Amino acid sequence: MANIVAIVGRPNVGKSTLFNRLTESRKAIVDDFSGVTRDRHYEMAEWIGKKFTVVDTGGFVHGSDDIFEEAIREQVHLAIEEASVILFMVDVTTGITDLDDEIADLLRRSSKPVYVVANKVDHARRTHESAEFYAFGLGEVYNISSVTGSGTGELLDEVVSHF
Ligand code: GDP
Ligand code: MG
Repeated sequence: MANIVAIVGRPNVGKSTLFNRLTESRKAIVDDFSGVTRDRHYEMAEWIGKKFTVVDTGGFVHGSDDIFEEAIREQVHLAIEEASVILFMVDVTTGITDLDDEIADLLRRSSKPVYVVANKVDHARRTHESAEFYAFGLGEVYNISSVTGSGTGELLDEVVSHF
């Protein structure tokens, strides 16, 4: 398979919400509780005439912290293996967590293009708060709101430039 865009990140940052918006599907389960999406979901999406597959990585079942973090590592490794482009999603309303740092460490070792996506930037006043995500050392930070769709066009323009 070619042109695969994987969305990775810790639970509750909004991965499934973005996935549903990009694919206009209701398949990914969005819930207010962490760890609800259990599977990897694959759906087709299209932007400015370019088709690609979006992967929603969930698979984080409630359990001990060790199992939890191991599952996330596994998802990130799978994404690094199979994806052409990786969207590393973080949450501007919570800022950087230890898990975010751990995922960033894994992604920095990948040669695949990685986009840092600061989600939940629902209002312009939150834009400056996402500057802390530059500390990952993964380049440009893309501010989006998966709920309103704000910023997703600019992000997709960059993503499909690889296809
Ligand atoms: P996932 O665990 O990363 O797949 O996150 P979900 O897509 O399930 O979203 C977790 C929670 O964050 C849900 O309550 C969503 O409605 C909420 N959420 C997702 N995107 C946004 C956003 O852009 N803004 C706000 N305010 N909430 C969001
Ligand atoms: Mg999810």
